Amino acid sequence: MRQKEFHDLLCVDEAKEKFYSNIFRGTLGTERVDVIDGLGRVISSDIMARIDVPPFARSQRDGYAVAASDTFGADEEMPVKLKLSGENIQAGSEAENALESGCAVRIATGAPMPRGANAVVMVEYCNECTGIVEVQSCVHPNENVMHTGEDVMQGEVVFRRGARISSCDLGVLAAIGVTEIEVFSRPRVAVISTGNELAEPGDELFGAKIYDVNSRMIVGACRECGAIASFLGISKDDEKDIEKLLSRALEYDVIIISGGTSAGAGDVCYRVVDEMLSPGILVHGVAVKPGKPVVLGAHNKKPVVVLPGFPTSCIVMFNLFVKPVILSMCGVKEDVSARIKAKCAVRYCSSQGKHEFVLSNVVKGDGSYFAYPVPKTSGAVTGFSSADGYIEIAQDVEYIEKDEDVDVVLLSDDVTVPDVVFIGSQCMGADAGLSILSKRGYLSRVINVGSTGGIGACLRGEADVSGVHLIDAKSGVYNVGFMDEGLMLVRGYRRRQGIMFRRGCGYKSLGDFVSDDKMRLINRNGGSGTRVLFDMLLDELKDGCRREKIAGYDVEAKSHNAVACAVASKKADWGIGIYSAAKMYGLEFIDIRDEEYDFCVPAGRFQKKSVQEFVSVLKSGEFKKRVLAMDGFVVPEDIGDVVCG
Ligand code: AMP
Ligand code: MG
Repeated sequence: MRQKEFHDLLCVDEAKEKFYSNIFRGTLGTERVDVIDGLGRVISSDIMARIDVPPFARSQRDGYAVAASDTFGADEEMPVKLKLSGENIQAGSEAENALESGCAVRIATGAPMPRGANAVVMVEYCNECTGIVEVQSCVHPNENVMHTGEDVMQGEVVFRRGARISSCDLGVLAAIGVTEIEVFSRPRVAVISTGNELAEPGDELFGAKIYDVNSRMIVGACRECGAIASFLGISKDDEKDIEKLLSRALEYDVIIISGGTSAGAGDVCYRVVDEMLSPGILVHGVAVKPGKPVVLGAHNKKPVVVLPGFPTSCIVMFNLFVKPVILSMCGVKEDVSARIKAKCAVRYCSSQGKHEFVLSNVVKGDGSYFAYPVPKTSGAVTGFSSADGYIEIAQDVEYIEKDEDVDVVLLSDDVTVPDVVFIGSQCMGADAGLSILSKRGYLSRVINVGSTGGIGACLRGEADVSGVHLIDAKSGVYNVGFMDEGLMLVRGYRRRQGIMFRRGCGYKSLGDFVSDDKMRLINRNGGSGTRVLFDMLLDELKDGCRREKIAGYDVEAKSHNAVACAVASKKADWGIGIYSAAKMYGLEFIDIRDEEYDFCVPAGRFQKKSVQEFVSVLKSGEFKKRVLAMDGFVVPEDIGDVVCG
């Protein structure tokens, strides 16, 4: 079988040049639509105002229309007396008489100014008594008056070709009396997923199937650009199947396929594209991370792209190569993704020789924004939806220093600034606390970086609260010893921790498990609290247990669930983890020692309203009830109390 190898990767600019010079990226005609259907559409010809807004000079306040010069010198002590005209000018009706010198006339907000008046004194500064009004404050000419055309002038270009219509713009169009607008036609995009492993969300998952993530994500991303995107279906990794969908896709303006770009044996997709289309593939393989195997091609100037299957690679490559094309077909001049300046919160090593896109979370720290690279591989699906944006690292840059200035390209228009930034170790108990907090009106943002990373974030002022469960290997005491100066520890809850195994082995203690070399362990990763505890307990065993004698000691899993899954699926026979994971996978469990999960707070944030509310959530009956309903959680009397700091 012919296998693709990636020897000569193009750099991003070369790939773009080759792709763009072989496709048509212009707009696809125009159409007239009702203004109300114009939301999000792109204007194809300038729109000029045919009237002035406002169409006449009008009062901006309820009060008295006057000639400003008649009020000069007026103040509370020396009010000026003006003769009141009998008229009362209302919004929507014209003034009948001109204002005479030395007179004032009642006028409402929005009503037209009478001839001879050039200012309005607010009703609050006037005293009316039989036929006279006392003005207690002078006004200057034009005060409280909006002049004809002050907002929009007749003949002014209000919207230029290429502007995308927002809801506020609909208001402006209404103000100038426009009912229909001329907009660019929207490009039609066909989206196809490929892979034998893919199932439609909603269908049952069986065997080695996974749900198709990319099609919905890409259809959504195309719609966000302003295109009409349709999902044509999932194709098997089979040439005939792909050909069938691809021939239907040829009716569309843009074709986006995902999966099957790599050099793997089952990846037939890029071959079909090359054989069926003309000229076919232009670029296969770009020096980027993630997304290296991306395929850029064309069929009679029509863009055809095969995005890598890994969802993160897929969306990053969409943003890099496809989004600019769709936007320009929609008539949008350039990709105006918002950027913000931030400091990189950790040292980040980049991949050698690759132009890298690092999805990142952004939080507001003391004085500046901090970017946290999302610690996910390109196979992860949650990375990009929780990320605020990405940092771009040029091909020749090896690493970004901690605290180095970076530009973050935002995935949405703005960074939401939550009330509570929670950075630390992930726990469903903490999640329950934060959802009660959100019912109380406080928005939170969770970044899972583990206990140690959470403490660092507290010290740097990036986190308001961190969930921690660190055990001191010498004393066996949780968390307290890790609280540096400036940090406080708030009591959380305990999680039952123990040995998980499949039914029927009959063992009762850790000693039993380690002394049977037929029983294969799945260990936790070095540095995790569970691993520290496990190693401590091994040292405590009577004859000082030898690690190398434990089958599987070197095989590690990164979470409680991963340990439980390995045991349940018989890839291992036993492991250490929390009870809730054992229960979820139907495993037997023997308690060894509860793990203490507490909350670290920077002392300077403790009085912050949202943090105080979080502490009050911890102490609440609702939280206790929710945590106790979870398997293997223990709530101590002093939950929510400050333990130290
Ligand atoms: P491929 O690009 O086909 O080699 O796929 C690379 C990885 O992405 C594999 O783990 C696939 O299972 C996964 N993948 C491919 N297509 C999709 C999709 N539409 N949704 C979710 N994962 C996918
Ligand atoms: Mg595949």
